[in-house]
Amino acid sequence: MFFFDPVYLIFMIPAFILMGITSWYVRHAYTKWSKVRASSGLTGAQAAQQLVSRAAYIGTDGSTDLRGVRVLGIGGNLTDHYNPQDKTLYLSPGVANVPSVAAVAIAAHELGHAMQDAEGYIPLRFRSALVPMVNIGSNLGWILILAGLFLRWTNLAWLGVLFFAGGAVFALATLPVEFNASARAKAMLTTSGIIRTEEEARGVSAVLNAAALTYVAALITAVLQLLYYVFLVGGIGRRRD
Ligand SMILES: [Zn+2]
Repeated sequence: MFFFDPVYLIFMIPAFILMGITSWYVRHAYTKWSKVRASSGLTGAQAAQQLVSRAAYIGTDGSTDLRGVRVLGIGGNLTDHYNPQDKTLYLSPGVANVPSVAAVAIAAHELGHAMQDAEGYIPLRFRSALVPMVNIGSNLGWILILAGLFLRWTNLAWLGVLFFAGGAVFALATLPVEFNASARAKAMLTTSGIIRTEEEARGVSAVLNAAALTYVAALITAVLQLLYYVFLVGGIGRRRD
């Protein structure tokens, strides 16, 4: 029923537009730099494999050890991710099998997450710890808001809003994790010599910055959604007084 609230649209239309623009921008940067061949001639999978062996070697003197990190393929487009449960980097065909600037940028970014995992990087651990809370919170939040509004029990509805705030906190906690993975990617690619030219460095930045923008858009969306619930429950509270 809230979905058809025109006020909801006032809050969410800017978010939908922003999400649309950023997702277009990611696809644009990805398509553009997928056509630019990496001068190393390495595909995303080869670059990742090379960086894993290099880090495994460095790891023997105490820095980040990526021994045991596997690189596997996964179907789809831009489905690339690192899974900390099985210590595996999953790369999509457009990244794994293509020797492009975009492919090595994305592969190195996901490897950045593997490094964070191996090091027990605090922002990553904080974000992972939020996951179960956010899952429970977003479901329970709805129930509490609905029940609070139905029972005219404003405090219960506010508790629901508080549970919902977990989603915004999660989106905020995602930013340092993503920015850090991209910074690691840029450093790894340059120091390993996989990225050599000025143009390649520009391409890596363009692809990774575009991806970072989507996380900023997700945060803005989560905040707008939260503000809508604050407005909704606040309005009911005022009407009752
Ligand atoms: Zn990432």
